[in-house]
Amino acid sequence: MKIGICPGSFDPVTNGHLDIIKRASHVVDKVVVAVLNNPFKNPLFTIEERINILKEATKEIPNVEIDSFSGLLVDYVNMKNADVIIKGLRAVSDFEYEFQMALMNKKLNKNVETMFMMTSSEYSYLSSSIVKETFKLNGCIEGLVPDHVIDAMRKKFKEVL
Ligand code: ADP
Repeated sequence: MKIGICPGSFDPVTNGHLDIIKRASHVVDKVVVAVLNNPFKNPLFTIEERINILKEATKEIPNVEIDSFSGLLVDYVNMKNADVIIKGLRAVSDFEYEFQMALMNKKLNKNVETMFMMTSSEYSYLSSSIVKETFKLNGCIEGLVPDHVIDAMRKKFKEVL
């Protein structure tokens, strides 16, 4: 059984992430979406909230598991007995960072492979940050994230502002 790990902040999940997760679910037997618990970032949603939002968003995909991790991704990949890290690429600007990460992960553990999937053109400009920024300024984000994410953001911004 081939296991792929889709790591990220998912703060919150967007339709761009979901596109990659769905496509990955056709390539491997199981996709583990791993939410990075990074104490140096200042996320809008807590780990638990991001996990719950992801669970709701992926409930129709049978071979997806939602989890979280902290520390080195390669250690987490080993712990899950996974075969491959699957990442999305939006633009040339993603490439440099992802190239560096993939090579560093290879250096840390030569058995860990990274696979890249090109974004679908309709999501190529989409990131969690641009969605949050737009929403904060009352811009319309319909169609860019699932509806329950819009509800969660509405609630969250009421709490934090
Ligand atoms: P973001 O940049 O949106 O905060 P994350 O850190 O959560 O994203 O990213 C997790 C993974 O999802 C990364 O591999 C990233 O390149 C990919 N990704 C994010 N948005 C998109 C998109 N619109 N299309 C394809 N891949 C994406």
